[in-house]
Amino acid sequence: MWYQKGEKGRTLIGRVPFKRDLLESVQEFAAKQKIKCARVEIIGAVEKAVISYYNQDKRVYEDREFNEHLEIVSCLGNLSLRDSKPAVHLHITLGDSEGQLKGGHLQKGTIVFAGEFVIEEILGPELHRGHDPDTDLPLWQKNKSTPGRL
Ligand code: ZN
Repeated sequence: MWYQKGEKGRTLIGRVPFKRDLLESVQEFAAKQKIKCARVEIIGAVEKAVISYYNQDKRVYEDREFNEHLEIVSCLGNLSLRDSKPAVHLHITLGDSEGQLKGGHLQKGTIVFAGEFVIEEILGPELHRGHDPDTDLPLWQKNKSTPGRL
């Protein structure tokens, strides 16, 4: 296990625009605000959603598209760097009209009806995503300046 230490930076709280792509909106906002590392949470509702499940045997994301109005019961994730640009990684739990939940890795194609976000910037760490050979996922890579090896 390894980690980097960070300190609290800005707390940014606001709305995600109506009928915009959820993932792209957060990504663009983070880039504009020059955020390198953060925790992200969002609640609200979507008009439609695309989420995926990572098939660990096949090593591929399997997308699921839901063309229905859904509540964002919870959307949590983080922001780090991929190819030196802010990269948002979000997982979302969605509730339907029956109160049934579905969830997974948020993909582009999820269209916001209403969205309220809180982004807590973390100053200090530089977490870069790179290919992880064990999982074939773009996971955070330890670098030589990483303190606190456990
Ligand atoms: Zn994910």
